[in-house]
Amino acid sequence: MSTITAKNIKKYNFSAGPAILAASVIKEAAAAVSDFNGIGLSILEISHRSKGFVDVMNEATSLARELLGLPEDYEVLFLTGGASSQFFMSALNLLDSEETACYVDTGSWSAKAIKEAKLYGNVNILSSSKEAAYNYIPKGYEIPGDAKYLHLTSNNTIYGTQYHSWPETTIPIVCDMSSDIFSRPLPINRFGMIYAGAQKNMGPAGTTMVIIRKDMLGRVSRTIPTMLNYQTHIDKNSAFNTPPVYPIYVCMLTLRWLKEQGGLEAMEKQNKAKAAIIYNEIDSNPLFKGTTAIEDRSLMNVTFVMNDDSLTSAFMDIATAAGCVGLAGYRSVGGFRASIYNAMPVEGVQVLADLMKEFAHKHG
Ligand code: PMP
Repeated sequence: MSTITAKNIKKYNFSAGPAILAASVIKEAAAAVSDFNGIGLSILEISHRSKGFVDVMNEATSLARELLGLPEDYEVLFLTGGASSQFFMSALNLLDSEETACYVDTGSWSAKAIKEAKLYGNVNILSSSKEAAYNYIPKGYEIPGDAKYLHLTSNNTIYGTQYHSWPETTIPIVCDMSSDIFSRPLPINRFGMIYAGAQKNMGPAGTTMVIIRKDMLGRVSRTIPTMLNYQTHIDKNSAFNTPPVYPIYVCMLTLRWLKEQGGLEAMEKQNKAKAAIIYNEIDSNPLFKGTTAIEDRSLMNVTFVMNDDSLTSAFMDIATAAGCVGLAGYRSVGGFRASIYNAMPVEGVQVLADLMKEFAHKHG
């Protein structure tokens, strides 16, 4: 791949994560590194017990509650260890050794969650799209009503598929929303737990949001190490140990920005409009094709390839030179992946679609 990237052209960051953040958030986050709230200290050097940071934590959790419409019996936590730690922490806290949890295997991240859950209880894999290179979301399977929970991965970052409706079940859904949290409103009562690494739709890498309904906890007989017990972090307002102050601060700025944009309904509308621009181009352009089932297409990670693979690197070069960066598909998948998270402006998507059109005029 060529490295032609002009320094002075506007960049559109299509990277899957760590990913684009709103320009105003980056500006404010940068200013706070020099001077946080005019106190003459950097956000990087203040105590996590200072009023300044306690206010940040409280504002971040209350904005998350407000945006998602969380009822009183849900807690919001900012933890560390990435979404990957939630693969085991969720089962450790929620699934007793004799109990069964149901999982749907929609990609590598689901498979990793399944592997970890098996350490703690019985795992019933209801369905998998692995045989089709995870290019669709399985449907039509039966969900046992006596399982402890149903684990889903709402958006499959690598493959570009996303749930557009939630399976019908009375058991609580535990959901990895790492790559689409805050991208759309949710029927929150269906969820017993939601977790998401911050670094796609919420902030920089370094913190993981966990949303948990209180009645999910305290129901396993094993002893849970203090740091891995959700109750520890609930009791201490996510500050049992030193929390990642700066990532949480940037998440708070993003959540403020989301509210200013009109909240999750407005975000969903914009995300649908952005995705339509790029998918319409893929579908009408003779050089490109989408890689996933149309009804399961992700509004966050748009995966596509060229019909003639020998043109792939030429298009990548043109896109990169035009400022569209981070477009390479996941290393095991190849092709292109345009990640168009909340912070991607509509003009970024339009620039990419126009480049595809122009490329087809030249090479079609
Ligand atoms: N789940 C999904 C859906 C992801 O996309 C990712 C990261 N790309 C992970 C889990 C793992 O997250 P982390 O790197 O925060 O552990």
